[in-house]
Amino acid sequence: MLTDTTQGETKGNQCKTPPSIEVPVLIVGGGPIGMLGGIMLAKRGLPCLVAEKYPQRLDAPKAHALNPRSLEICAAAGLSMNRLHAVATPRHEGADVRIVTSLVGQQIGSLPYERQDEAVRTLTRWPLINISQPAFEQVLEQTITQTDQVTLRKGLEWVSCEQQPDQVISTLIDRASGERFQVISRYLIAADGASSTVREHLGIPMLGPHALQHNMMIHFEADLRELLQERPAILYFLFGPGPSRVLIAYDIGKTWVLMHRCGEHETAANFGPEVCTRLIRQAIGSDKPPIQIKNVRPWVMSAQVAQQYVQGRVFLAGDAGHRFPPSGGLGLNTGVADMDNLTWKLASVEKGIAAPGILDTYESERQGVAQTNMRQSLSNAQRMKVLMDVLGYNPDAPETVKHIAQRLANTEHHLAIQEAVEYQREHFDSLRLQLGYAYGGTLQQEDSLPISDFRPKAVVGARLPHHTLADGRSTLDLMHFADISLLCGHNSGWVANSHRLGFHVHCLAQGREYEMQGHCPVLMGLSKSGALLVRPDGHILAVADAFSEDSLQYMQNALRSYMHPSSEPSTTTISPHEQHH
Ligand SMILES: Cc1cc2nc3c(=O)[nH]c(=O)nc-3n(C[C@H](O)[C@H](O)[C@H](O)COP(=O)(O)OP(=O)(O)OC[C@H]3O[C@@H](n4cnc5c(N)ncnc54)[C@H](O)[C@@H]3O)c2cc1C
Repeated sequence: MLTDTTQGETKGNQCKTPPSIEVPVLIVGGGPIGMLGGIMLAKRGLPCLVAEKYPQRLDAPKAHALNPRSLEICAAAGLSMNRLHAVATPRHEGADVRIVTSLVGQQIGSLPYERQDEAVRTLTRWPLINISQPAFEQVLEQTITQTDQVTLRKGLEWVSCEQQPDQVISTLIDRASGERFQVISRYLIAADGASSTVREHLGIPMLGPHALQHNMMIHFEADLRELLQERPAILYFLFGPGPSRVLIAYDIGKTWVLMHRCGEHETAANFGPEVCTRLIRQAIGSDKPPIQIKNVRPWVMSAQVAQQYVQGRVFLAGDAGHRFPPSGGLGLNTGVADMDNLTWKLASVEKGIAAPGILDTYESERQGVAQTNMRQSLSNAQRMKVLMDVLGYNPDAPETVKHIAQRLANTEHHLAIQEAVEYQREHFDSLRLQLGYAYGGTLQQEDSLPISDFRPKAVVGARLPHHTLADGRSTLDLMHFADISLLCGHNSGWVANSHRLGFHVHCLAQGREYEMQGHCPVLMGLSKSGALLVRPDGHILAVADAFSEDSLQYMQNALRSYMHPSSEPSTTTISPHEQHH
């Protein structure tokens, strides 16, 4: 799969690095987004090399939430859902968020952390799970070792590239040997994180504030299970002495991060073991359980989106294209959907199914989603200010905990405090952002709805709604991962005429490939002889509510204008379905 143009085939870490390698796609960065992108490309039939600079990933836990859409995408990409769930935080320990003066101190309020309840299963097969980023990365790395056509090479640093009309020539360094060599690829995906070298090399600016807040991320181990029996949570917002802080409980029995707001010029050297121990003890509110400090790293909160996602044959994905405040847990999750969107298009172009012009839709579809998620993450980060004001919280006053306790004890303040806690709810309930983003079409305009209010609709641009099929699978499980799917109702003319669409489609007929239950076919627009064209990333390309020559023509046009945008004027195709409504 990787062609060494001077020395023949190679795969794996152990081979000597050749001076020149040819591969269809080079992914720079073996973080979660680079590794997942590699798996997706391979599954979509395009070989790739994932080059990671470091021999080992940091064990700093970072992201904790994998939202339903990311899980749906992981399932479609063939990741073992059992493995992911086995390493996730137990649901009852990650179900809430608490606002407290310290872990054992007074509780100011609590809210559910996103939709993890059983009722959400009517909207998705995979409710959100909390999983520490290294645990997720381990599952990805294991999957790569079991996947043909993708090679992860650690210790390879991307340095620069030169773009030619039909290829990208990158220079990389093998950090162990110091040897420089070239990778010649048809495309390059920059998944090299927030400080992306590729993005800088291309001179693509990030738009938005860079340094909103400086933090020290203190990673420590402690078994706080006994202490928190009655009050488990995934996040604890702390209003104790000193600046407001957040504790992230990746594993209540072991893995914790204290996110401590610090000054712009403070470095990890200012946070030696003594300082960290004092801060952690203050946050816990007890000297009892032993703690072990693992790692201390500065981290700057930004709210930025890259001005361009695509430059020639180079594409930005994940944090290389956007960096958000972690409030809202949207960073990694946005990157997962970037890769889903990009990889099927690259594979389709390379297979000759789509024209290169389709690759422009990567930027037009994903950049807007990143901007929405960035704005929401920022607004979440700012919401806590309201609660601080109501509590009269003053980080510089040594008596602040006493003042908060007095306000909490005074019934006059109860209503205002409750309302300020309630005002935080949106921060932790963003199902519409997770599942409801759409690419064009009428849904994209529904931004005025609350972000918790997700109403699935089988319309152009939206993700195919999830419904549980008679055999327990989801409608999304039916979709082909590499080809366009045609989901049709029973007894329709679509099956017999699908070859007339002009593209190879994966045809799925009710009663033949799947059985829907109850009102599901009606909700999906599949009653009688309707049909949906669905992209490999699960988004709807076209909807017809009955079979006719006109509908067939509309489906043909929709497919052609999306897959071959340069050969068609870019007019929006009106479906017979939309004309009727
Ligand atoms: C405290 C915290 C909590 C968070 N919580 C959440 C959450 O709950 N949910 C969520 O969705 N997100 C969350 N995030 C954000 C999440 O961690 C990031 O969005 C995620 O790591 C982005 O993944 P990535 O693969 O794009 O980039 P990275 O994880 O940064 O990976 C980039 C990789 O590229 C490699 N690299 C860099 N330069 C080169 C080069 N020149 N050559 C080769 N390799 C290179 C790096 O070594 C690295 O391994 C959180 C972040 C923090 C800090």
